[in-house]
Amino acid sequence: MTISSNPMPSGEIPGLETCIHCGLCLPVCPTYAIDRRESQNPRGRIAALRRVSEERAPLTPGLVAGLEDCLVCRACESACPAGISMEGLLLSHRTATRPTHADRATRLERWLLDEVIAHPERLELGLGALRAVRGGLARLGMRDLPSKERLIPRDLPDSIEPDPGQRVRGSVTILRGCVTDRLFRSETLAAGRLLAHFGYRVSFGAPGCCGALHRHAGLADSALRLSRERARDLLREPLSGATHDALTPHVIVSDSAGCHAALLEPLAEEPALHDLARRLTDTPSLLSTLELPPPAHPIEEPVAFFPPCHQSHGTHTVSATRALLEHVTKAGVVDLVGEDFCCGAAGMYVMRRPEKSHELGERARERWERSGSPRIIATGNPGCLLRWESLIGAGANVEVVHPVTLLARAFCGPEPL
Ligand code: SF4
Ligand code: SF4
Repeated sequence: MTISSNPMPSGEIPGLETCIHCGLCLPVCPTYAIDRRESQNPRGRIAALRRVSEERAPLTPGLVAGLEDCLVCRACESACPAGISMEGLLLSHRTATRPTHADRATRLERWLLDEVIAHPERLELGLGALRAVRGGLARLGMRDLPSKERLIPRDLPDSIEPDPGQRVRGSVTILRGCVTDRLFRSETLAAGRLLAHFGYRVSFGAPGCCGALHRHAGLADSALRLSRERARDLLREPLSGATHDALTPHVIVSDSAGCHAALLEPLAEEPALHDLARRLTDTPSLLSTLELPPPAHPIEEPVAFFPPCHQSHGTHTVSATRALLEHVTKAGVVDLVGEDFCCGAAGMYVMRRPEKSHELGERARERWERSGSPRIIATGNPGCLLRWESLIGAGANVEVVHPVTLLARAFCGPEPL
């Protein structure tokens, strides 16, 4: 069955001609590691898109499936000498084709993104309902569910003043996000404590989605609208009366690698979006510009560091996080042995491709076991944190943490209750 003879007119997907077919991206592609077919690697996906775009082939269900299998992990972008953007290609393709070929999982994904996740009050209701049925879903075998503790959000102050005696270095607004705000407030608070400890006046923006997941799902209009909303909220004047070093402008922090990476690459040539991208960083990168003292409460145990794909291939801030983790741990940072593939979380991939997602999760867990099963696993993205919590399992004597949690613990002491 052919879905459409030409849903993507030639020239609608920029960058399709860039691929030189060298194959350097093949070894880093997780879907190709699972299934050695050309349709499962970046080169094959680009060739298929090009054939359809140039009207040399119809967009068949098989071809669509190969494209939908992509995790948009962006590992191929780092390996590619020609500078392809698989994220950009997939966004164009999915935006053009999903309205006409969406299967049930894709329709559910789009509905959740547009009708629930994009609205903080509906997300609140949805996660409240999840809290009520979580136990039942877990018994049915559903994975990657947030823990009961995560489903009870803690309070977040509007702002945090710099620690007494610290020179005020500047003002920071932290992106609270949508799911992150509801499930990962402890991590947001840890970043705030840490930045205030080193002299920043911290404000927490209003909760709200940045559109990163919409971007992956081919909801380009929604992604752009949400990124505009976040730019409007986050670029507002920070705390009234804030004085700061003229060389240190108002900084925006996102410690969610997927959100950070998405906002770094605006979907439109608009000054506010570019201003937001220029000011955007993450907590470890901001702290790495300072001369940090030894931590007052060093982490005694080795820490397994699992950088999220969008930190490795989007924000490119892995080395700053890794260096700070080294700085605060006595026993050092453990890089997992083996091939550095996506853990399979990849936004809402588990919903669309549960089997592939779980296989990649198992591969990640095996890497951790072959690395000596360190008791602390650090990773800086909400989806990866949920994935690792699910992989390790409740009750295991293993802690899955965001790097900012460890840094706050090391420099500021135990988290307040
Ligand atoms: S984004 Fe990831 S899954 Fe998709 S083609 Fe590139 S390496 Fe493969
Ligand atoms: S590395 Fe880049 S240029 Fe080479 S085959 Fe892959 S996508 Fe094409």
